[in-house]
Amino acid sequence: MEKHGVRNCRPPVSVLVIGGGLSGMYAAIAAWRAGADTLLLSKGRAGGSGNSVVAMSVHRFAPGAPGLREEYRARFQASAGGVQDPDTASFFVDNAAGAMEALREYGLPLHYRTLPEGEGEFPYLACCAPKRGQILTQALRAYIDHQTAIRVEDGVTVCDLLVEDGRVQGVVALQGGEQTVYPAKSVVLACGGAGNIYAATSNTSDVTGDGYCMAARCGLSLRDMEFIQFYPYRICSPRRADIFPDIFEHGAVFRNRAGQRFMDCARYPKKELENRDVVARAIYGQEGVYLDLADCDGAYLERECPNIARIRREYPAERLLVRPVAHFFMGGVPLRRDCVTDIAGLYVCGEVTGGLHGANRLAGSALTETVLFGHIAGHGAAGDAAEREASAVSPAAVARATAGYPEAGEDDLAALKRRLRDVMWRQVSVVRTQNGMEEALRELAGIRAEFEGCRPADLKAWVELRNLLFTAESVTRAALRRPESLGAHFRVD
Ligand SMILES: Cc1cc2nc3c(=O)[nH]c(=O)nc-3n(C[C@H](O)[C@H](O)[C@H](O)COP(=O)(O)OP(=O)(O)OC[C@H]3O[C@@H](n4cnc5c(N)ncnc54)[C@H](O)[C@@H]3O)c2cc1C
Repeated sequence: MEKHGVRNCRPPVSVLVIGGGLSGMYAAIAAWRAGADTLLLSKGRAGGSGNSVVAMSVHRFAPGAPGLREEYRARFQASAGGVQDPDTASFFVDNAAGAMEALREYGLPLHYRTLPEGEGEFPYLACCAPKRGQILTQALRAYIDHQTAIRVEDGVTVCDLLVEDGRVQGVVALQGGEQTVYPAKSVVLACGGAGNIYAATSNTSDVTGDGYCMAARCGLSLRDMEFIQFYPYRICSPRRADIFPDIFEHGAVFRNRAGQRFMDCARYPKKELENRDVVARAIYGQEGVYLDLADCDGAYLERECPNIARIRREYPAERLLVRPVAHFFMGGVPLRRDCVTDIAGLYVCGEVTGGLHGANRLAGSALTETVLFGHIAGHGAAGDAAEREASAVSPAAVARATAGYPEAGEDDLAALKRRLRDVMWRQVSVVRTQNGMEEALRELAGIRAEFEGCRPADLKAWVELRNLLFTAESVTRAALRRPESLGAHFRVD
């Protein structure tokens, strides 16, 4: 059997960005603007992949007016349940409005909404019309292609970071099926979360925990991995669609199989608009939940939720079945206000990071986070690269990174991946118990045993399963370590 091996080495660049979602694209733009020779590698097409594409494009942030800002700060802190990094969180609250303001110069199709305060009007939200992230990601990709000299390579899966003497030297990636070394003075890790450790997820299929595993493999620790937001507002039949929660202020309601509006009681004072984790658990506890639009304002539906209006037109006789799905990872590589990590030259931004949102995230804050920290990470990486000479990648770093790579063979890993996603959904999702999580760890150990002996036909599938498995184990162990319920982590025992 042939062992998968490194075949090519590319010319060095100053800044290499991993990930073509919004955080990666903002980082690349900031690095290029700061004068760095910049390369962006993305597993899916940059601007056409990752959760940024399927997002609803809603950016919420603390308005500039002091009173409104303090109100937001209080909500941001309350939702985090006391486990967020206070310095990073405070920096975010104070600087997000400025970052959103600066974004206007890109000419992106974002519409800003304002709140009155004193004599002024202060932006607090920006979104596309209709609310589709793809409108934004495509516009940003066009900006990169036409207004910058950033080089983008789509369809390249980064497998590992190359680190020598505590400093990043580049990455090993799969390009056209071959392992290729990409040397770089600085690297920005921006490859998103890991919703695909679960059988039910709103995430795109390329979001497989690659950043968590890559960071941990070179010695970085992760934080808050037990906190995963489960999104309750998703129609899964007759066709998948996300529900914009404002719909519940315009007559839509959830009903259970018996036709009861089960969230209209003292236990749920805000009804269907309780916190996402509360709604997710309420739905999870029912045998079937449906979105009832009988009393929903038709003009609102057509204007604000055209995807749902279309489903209703196409399937007039069918009930719209709703179920919670894994949505957002609050945990990850610890995020500091300057996006640096404990590896020199390695910067992080976006959903791969942890510590900003603590135990739970406020709606609309993830996209704002990509704007603020994407720019900071890219700018920081460019500054770091400017201070050093290009050095050759050390063969020892390549050998270390690729040491565990498997022999090529014919094994198909799809069944192992399915088992992993199923056990995580059954035992470590919306509602958790000690026994269930221990059972999950046993099942994951069995999956790992088979994984370690395999000879994959497809190295990309192997890398993704390696990353999913590592992330699933990290989530389960972190969840077991936390005996109490907090934020999105809910234990019934
Ligand atoms: C359905 C849905 C709706 C949402 N709506 C909102 C919203 O309205 N407002 C809000 O604030 N948040 C929302 N979120 C959350 C938000 O979209 C994400 O947190 C955010 O887009 C993450 O951006 P990112 O750039 O960090 O990662 P992503 O957008 O997920 O991008 C990751 C990128 O990295 C690439 N990649 C992954 N692994 C590798 C690798 N090994 N090598 C190279 N490239 C790699 C991927 O191909 C992709 O290009 C939503 C999420 C979902 C799933």
